Amino acid sequence: MPPAHRSTADLATRLGVRSDACTVVGVRELSPSLREIALHGDPRLVGEPGRDVMVRVADGSRWVRRRYSVRWADPDTHRFGLWVTVDHDGPGARWARDAAVGQRVDVVGPRGKIGIAPDVDWHLFVGDLSAMAASYRMAEAIEPPGRAVFVLEIAQDADALTASFAEGLGVTGLFVDRRDRAPHDATGLLSGLAAVELPAGHGHAYVLAESGVVRALRAALGARGVSEEDISHKSYWRAGRHNADHGEPERD
Ligand SMILES: Cc1cc2nc3c(=O)[nH]c(=O)nc-3n(C[C@H](O)[C@H](O)[C@H](O)COP(=O)(O)OP(=O)(O)OC[C@H]3O[C@@H](n4cnc5c(N)ncnc54)[C@H](O)[C@@H]3O)c2cc1C
Repeated sequence: MPPAHRSTADLATRLGVRSDACTVVGVRELSPSLREIALHGDPRLVGEPGRDVMVRVADGSRWVRRRYSVRWADPDTHRFGLWVTVDHDGPGARWARDAAVGQRVDVVGPRGKIGIAPDVDWHLFVGDLSAMAASYRMAEAIEPPGRAVFVLEIAQDADALTASFAEGLGVTGLFVDRRDRAPHDATGLLSGLAAVELPAGHGHAYVLAESGVVRALRAALGARGVSEEDISHKSYWRAGRHNADHGEPERD
């Protein structure tokens, strides 16, 4: 394999963040669609809840980077976990499927701008399986008596993974069963969103999903009276297209 055209350390310097050659210290099948990859490396890579890391993975004879949100981090042991979707075919999914304890992987982070909005009464997390890690880590950081509402689309029953939240946090939500719909079909999440009641007070929504689905969900939230400044959104992937080599979906 030829060396990366720009070394991981150079990239991190350019971005003003950290890089490290992390070691895979755990691999767990969470469901047929999701694998947890636990890494050991510089704890400064992970950032606050909502942030992600760039992982360098092989794509045939070249390197590309893929972005994955940090699900959990343990600063004492320098370990952190990613929840990676493996139900499609791409270099990132292949990396997660083949990951084994002891392997090394170049990681750059923290990346991203999304974080928990301060001073709001409720937080709404909407997205597909790729949004689960960021949504759960952010919700775990909400101070009681805050409220977290989830609308998450799953591919099958076994994907309905849950998390533990602080006592006193109001948690509601639903898993939307994707059934036979394509993973970039917004219909399921739109009807899930229509079915949940938004709590009283001032809230913030986090929309993390496929590009077209993000667009549709933002419009639906707007129609429910949620203003653009109260929506943090990010396209995580784009139907029928590989993400670009730097890990984000290509823009037209
Ligand atoms: C900031 C950020 C944070 C992210 N966090 C996570 C995370 O925590 N967990 C996670 O699993 N993903 C996460 N993603 C999404 C992940 O980076 C993309 O899904 C990425 O495309 C996966 O790379 P790949 O090499 O497997 O597939 P690619 O080579 O990019 O794509 C190959 C094919 O698979 C399709 N595809 C890609 N992703 C999906 C998907 N999720 N479901 C169905 N089809 C897909 C594409 O449309 C394409 O046809 C995040 C993305 C961003 C930008």
